[in-house]
Amino acid sequence: MSLFRPRDVIDHVAQITPHFLAARGLNGLLLDLDNTLVPYGSYAEEGEMVRWAGELRSAGVGLYLLSNATGKRASFWISRLGFAGVGMAGKPNPRAFRKALDALALPPHAVGMVGDQVFTDVLGGNLAGMHTILVRPLAVNALPHTRAARRLERLVLRRYGHDWEPGRRR
Ligand SMILES: [Mg+2]
Repeated sequence: MSLFRPRDVIDHVAQITPHFLAARGLNGLLLDLDNTLVPYGSYAEEGEMVRWAGELRSAGVGLYLLSNATGKRASFWISRLGFAGVGMAGKPNPRAFRKALDALALPPHAVGMVGDQVFTDVLGGNLAGMHTILVRPLAVNALPHTRAARRLERLVLRRYGHDWEPGRRR
């Protein structure tokens, strides 16, 4: 069960600051896209998110987008966010995590995996030996398979003492 356990649970990525990272010995982040940085499927310009990423990069934090979205969608956001990454990553497959860590040239223990899903982002990050950070999803996704996964996530997270209702922020 511990492979499903996030090290940190936060409401929004903006809570991740250079100070937050320094306190955890992290120098880089792998970032999920959908429902972590932007609402699922969104192509709307997210100025706040671009500024947040820019501030972290100015502080020397390595950032890399690791998304299961289509390559086209990932490329759209990579060009706007200003850092590298990939789409169709196949999370939780460890191969994509290893490639991303190579791109950042950082060891797994110095990198946080930030995402909104336990069975892709948290599991994959834990398998890769990274510090996992679960973020509350930005939007409630209506796809049936995602709704089923959310129910399982709630069960897993409750075991760890997290009262997890997607879309309901504390
Ligand atoms: Mg996501």
